[in-house]
Amino acid sequence: MSLEKTDAVVLKTVEWSETSLIVTLFTKDFGKISAIAKGARRLKSPFESALDLLSLSSVVFLKKSGESLDLLTEAKLQRRFRSAQVGLLPLYCGYYAGEVINALTENHEPIAGLMESLCLTLQELDRQASPAWTILDFELQTIQRLGHMPSWRWCVACGEEIETDRQSIAFSPTGGGVVCTNCTPTQRGYLRIGRQTLQILESRARKLSGSDPARMVSEQSPPAILALSVRAELRLVMEQIIVSLSERRLRMLDFLEDLKR
Ligand SMILES: [Zn+2]
Repeated sequence: MSLEKTDAVVLKTVEWSETSLIVTLFTKDFGKISAIAKGARRLKSPFESALDLLSLSSVVFLKKSGESLDLLTEAKLQRRFRSAQVGLLPLYCGYYAGEVINALTENHEPIAGLMESLCLTLQELDRQASPAWTILDFELQTIQRLGHMPSWRWCVACGEEIETDRQSIAFSPTGGGVVCTNCTPTQRGYLRIGRQTLQILESRARKLSGSDPARMVSEQSPPAILALSVRAELRLVMEQIIVSLSERRLRMLDFLEDLKR
C-alpha cells in the first residue's frame, strides 16, 4: 500500500453505503482507478464537489494491491465541467467522452496524454466549440493514444495503397482500416464510405499525430459546411470503431444523434 497524489477526472460514481461512494477516476499518472470515497455521501462531505461527474480534481489515494479497491483520502476541485449551462448536446458529449475513456482503459494502466486530452475536450465543450469536431478529434486522439489508429490509406488485408479516386471506399472497423477492391471479397462487415469522409478522417488524424493536445485544440479549423451524408458517415465510422474496441455499444451513443445534423 502506498499513498499517491495525482490529478484526475471523475468518470463515474456509484453509491456504496449510506455514506460512501465508489468512484472511478481517470488519473494523470496511474490510469484509471476505482476507489472508495468514505463519507462522500454525507451532507458535509469532506470531498465537497470534487467528485462531481467530469470534474478535474487533485486527489490523494491509498493504492491497494491486487483487485482491492483503492481508498480515496483527499480530493480538491480544480475545474468543474459546466456544459449543462451550455446545452444538452455538449453535456451529452462530455458524458460520452467519459464513457469512452472508462470503456477503453484498464485499471492502473497509465496512458500518456490521455487525461489531458479528456480535460481539453471538456473545456472545448464548455466554451461552446463545435461538439461534432470536438468529439471527432477526441475519438481520433483517444484511439491513437491507445494504439488503435486505423489505416486510412493502406489496405488492412494486403498492405497495398488503396485507389482514392473511387467514389466509395470499403472500411473495416474490426479489421482496423480501409480495404482495397481486390480484398473486399475476402472481408466481412465492412462499411462503404465516401471519398470526402475518408479524406477528412485522414487529414484530421494526421494533424493530431505529432501535435500536443493543447495545440490540437487551438488548431481546430472545421471545413465550412459539410453535407449531411458526410456528417452521418463520420459518426458511423467513429461509432463502429469505438463499439468494436469496447466490444459493446456505449450508452451515450444514443444521445449523440444531433452530431449528424
Ligand atoms: Zn488489399
